[in-house]
This record gives sequence, C-alpha cells and structure tokens, in this order.
Amino acid sequence: MVFLCMLQVKHISFGYTKTNVLSHIDFIVNSGENLAIIGESGSGKSTLLNLIFGEYDLDQGQILWKDTEILGPKFNLVVGYDFIKYVSQEFDLMPFTSVEDNIGKHLSRFYPKEKEKRTQELIKIVELEPFAKTKVKNLSGGQKQRVAIARALAKEPEILLLDEPFSHIDNFKKQSLRRNVFKYLKQQNISCIVATHDKNDVLGFADKMIVLDDKKIIAEDTPQNLYKNPKLPLIASFFEEFNIINDKIYYAHQLRIVESSDLKARVKQSYFNGQNWLIEAEFNKKLIYISHRESLSTDTLISFKISK
Ligand code: ADP
Ligand code: MG
Repeated sequence: MVFLCMLQVKHISFGYTKTNVLSHIDFIVNSGENLAIIGESGSGKSTLLNLIFGEYDLDQGQILWKDTEILGPKFNLVVGYDFIKYVSQEFDLMPFTSVEDNIGKHLSRFYPKEKEKRTQELIKIVELEPFAKTKVKNLSGGQKQRVAIARALAKEPEILLLDEPFSHIDNFKKQSLRRNVFKYLKQQNISCIVATHDKNDVLGFADKMIVLDDKKIIAEDTPQNLYKNPKLPLIASFFEEFNIINDKIYYAHQLRIVESSDLKARVKQSYFNGQNWLIEAEFNKKLIYISHRESLSTDTLISFKISK
C-alpha cells in the first residue's frame, strides 16, 4: 500500500509547568495509517493526543496536517479542526438525548434520509442497535464509550485520535468492536492514532507503533518487529511475560521445559492462563517465567532450554 504523509509532528516539546512532559517528539502519520502510541500510565500519551488536537500551545516544534499548521488556543479561537476528531478519556455526550441523536447531532438536518442511514450504519459498527433510542444517561460506561466513537466517526474525519478507546468495554465485546472500528477506518482511509496500554488494541491492527518513555520516543517500528526483537524490558513487558537471562530478553514461551539440561530451576507456582500455564520458578536466585502445557507442583526441580 502506498501511503501519503498527512500528519507531521516535528520536534515538539511541551510541559504543563516548567518541567517537560514531552521532549523533542518527531513522527509522521500517513494517509489511512493506524499508529499506536504506547507507554506506561503517565508517560504522556494523552498529552500528545491533546497537542495534536490543538488543545494546548506547544513550547517548541510544529504540528502539520498536510499544509495546515495545528495551532493551540493562543492562536486559534475555537479549539479543533474539521478534519480531526478526538475521542478523549472523558467523552462528553448529551446525557438526556438518545444514542442515535447523539451520533447524528453533527450530521446535516437537510438530508434526513442520508442522516438516518449514516446514523444506523455507525450504530451497527459499535454494536448498539438495541440501544438506538435509549437515553445516554441510562447507558453503562462501555456503552457510552461506543457512542463517543460512533459520534466521532459521524462526520468522516480525515484523522481520528482515540485515547484508550476500548478501556471501558467488557471482554465479551472488545475483540469484535476493535475489528469493526479498525476495519471501518481502513475502508474509509481514515488515519488514526490510538493511545493505549493494551496490546490487544495494537497487535493485528496497528501499522506502526511508537513507545513513549521518559518524555521521549524510545522505539518506533511495526508491532511485529518490536514484538520479535524487543530491545528493552519495557517493550517486552507490553507484550508478554518475559525473562532476562545473560542480559538477553526471552518471553516465557521461549523457555521450554525438557527432560534434562544444564539449566535447572525450582518451581514456585503455576498460574493458569488459558492456552497454557505460566510456571514461576527460581533460577540463579531470581524468578523466571516459563510457559508450559500443564501445571507443576511447587518445589519440582525442572530443566529448561532456551529457544529463539
Ligand atoms: P498518559 O496518558 O500516558 O497516562 P498523561 O499525558 O495523562 O499520560 O500525563 C503525562 C504527565 O502529565 C503526567 O505526569 C501527568 O500527571 C501530567 N498531566 C497530565 N494532564 C495534566 C494537566 N492537565 N495539568 C498538569 N499536569 C498534567
Ligand atoms: Mg492517558
């Protein structure tokens, strides 16, 4: 796929006070691209989205959407631009109005048929058909979050900013919603930036991933490359349980329990995690984690191998 560069974040720095929250951040987002921003809580993900939306004035640098410079409140009377929509962590909906009216609010009244069709299409994407006529105040947190996503999509933005978009949504619905929403964005060629600490929002959907830590971007690559070759423990920890052995990072599934080997460890505990068990064991006075098909009793002496 050929991407055209649409968003340019050029060397930006920002702090709420004199201390910077973000320093010298550089990246681009192409047309229709899905970019994930990950980082621990407090690493500045939401701040970065707010800056891209034009919520605050930059201390340094520049943000461009095509040829338009995104300006903060000091230079722009009304925050925001038509081509960009933002679903923040606090979604402000109209509580006393129905789901469909919230979603259709910004659609033209002059084409009622079109408006109705578009509203129903969006309700379907976020799987809220049974609640179309329900007042938003009577919805759960997760349902409200879905209304906020549909409303942001209503006016077909060119870029969508999503801040932990599925955080309030239960596991029963999460996976299908992710597929619906991200598939729709690709179909419409809408660029998106997703701030998250959930790998399931990223794997399978993001074209590119940026890792924020200590005010800076510490890694930028495809999810596949970062997963396969996590250069730092912080990156590995985003994906799976991991170990550091001889200064190298190995995921739990890269250690294999075998009949005999020079590497020996003593089982401390077994945790069921669905497909496998996670075995916690003591190796060289440190805890290691090994993925195994069955549970093992405490104090069992095991041998293990490292496979790449
Ligand atoms: P994340 O979204 O990755 O959890 P945030 O962007 O919310 O991180 O926060 C980054 C840092 O900025 C944190 O240290 C947070 O306390 C601080 N911060 C966030 N919002 C504000 C604000 N409105 N005023 C002052 N400090 C803030
Ligand atoms: Mg946040």
